[in-house]
Amino acid sequence: MAGKRGLIMGVANDHSIAYGIARSLAEQGAELAFTYQGEALGKRVKPIAAKLGSSLVLPCDVEDLASVDAAFAAIAEVWGGLDFVAHCIAFSDKSELKGRYADTTRSNFQRTMLISAFSFTEVAARAAKLMKAGGSMVTLTFGGSMRVMPNYNVMGVAKAALEASVRYLAADFGPQGIRVNAISAGPVRTLAGAGITDARFMFNFQKSHAPLRRTVTIMDVGGSALYLLSELSSGVTGEVHYVDAGYNIISMPHPDDVKG
Ligand code: NAD
Repeated sequence: MAGKRGLIMGVANDHSIAYGIARSLAEQGAELAFTYQGEALGKRVKPIAAKLGSSLVLPCDVEDLASVDAAFAAIAEVWGGLDFVAHCIAFSDKSELKGRYADTTRSNFQRTMLISAFSFTEVAARAAKLMKAGGSMVTLTFGGSMRVMPNYNVMGVAKAALEASVRYLAADFGPQGIRVNAISAGPVRTLAGAGITDARFMFNFQKSHAPLRRTVTIMDVGGSALYLLSELSSGVTGEVHYVDAGYNIISMPHPDDVKG
């Protein structure tokens, strides 16, 4: 990745999936810029960025379109171009990540959709303008988009919209040599992951039922992101790539595992 420049959005701390992605890319020589949401997180993200050799660290709250525009204007000014973007951003009101999806409120539906799904479209449109020599974009999704996961609720609906966006964006930007893919990660213990009620149960259930009999690390996700953001995946676009220790292929647990 030497000579490549990319933007990492969504580092909150060194447990964030975005951090695993950033590390994988920095280790292969990529030059990185980071965005952070709010000054409190900025204090944590700046030293993390410095450790990975980056000094381009910008505020960006995707609910505020002016701050998205400002972040891309700063990248255009400092770098003049961009090769890749990793969008690792999601939010929903914790009080609705439990109970029934049917009880989702209109205001939280709109906010969850904006931050967790539509922000990727707004980011992709701005990033594509800077990708004059082609490029690659990745966003993060979860299997609760395709199949019902208890308590994932409106976030599952937002991830389904995000995955559909990946396909439409891949078609829109493909003629410019820009690829757009999603990684569907298995459960990882992060700030966002902890917001889902009974997250520990889901984590342990997937750990014991996934073919690899483990969950994934942020470096597992980082390795796959490196593939998708590099020329190694030059023929791949519009895909949802599962990095979940194989959990998504399982229909039901093996009886021996249940009997125990
Ligand atoms: P995390 O809490 O470390 O990261 C979530 C990030 O979203 C934070 O950096 C936060 O600042 C950012 N964010 C939220 N609202 C924002 C806004 N309005 N503007 C800008 N940034 C905002 O958790 P994570 O698990 O690393 O999450 C990263 C992505 O991975 C998310 O899309 C999440 O849904 C997805 N994902 C997580 C898991 C998991 O189990 N942790 C599994 C599959 C997919």
